[in-house]
Amino acid sequence: MTSLIRRVLCRIGHHRQLDIIQTFRAAQHVGCPDCRRRYAIHHGLRTFVPWDSDFADLYEGMGYDTAHATNRWFDYLDTREHRP
Ligand SMILES: [Zn+2]
Repeated sequence: MTSLIRRVLCRIGHHRQLDIIQTFRAAQHVGCPDCRRRYAIHHGLRTFVPWDSDFADLYEGMGYDTAHATNRWFDYLDTREHRP
């Protein structure tokens, strides 16, 4: 699949794959490895919305280290992209 098609598919919300960055009880922080956009999923409420600093603040306040999990995912993406 060309990168242009992949970019357009991401823009219309058809992400090829979503990695789980972190799980919080019934909710998850996920990210698309193609466009690197991140989302918050809540399984009980069945919602899927862009991840932002409010979510980070909310879960940091509940004791989760969201910054570490996010940085670990970005490091993983960078490693994967540079693999031969
Ligand atoms: Zn995407």
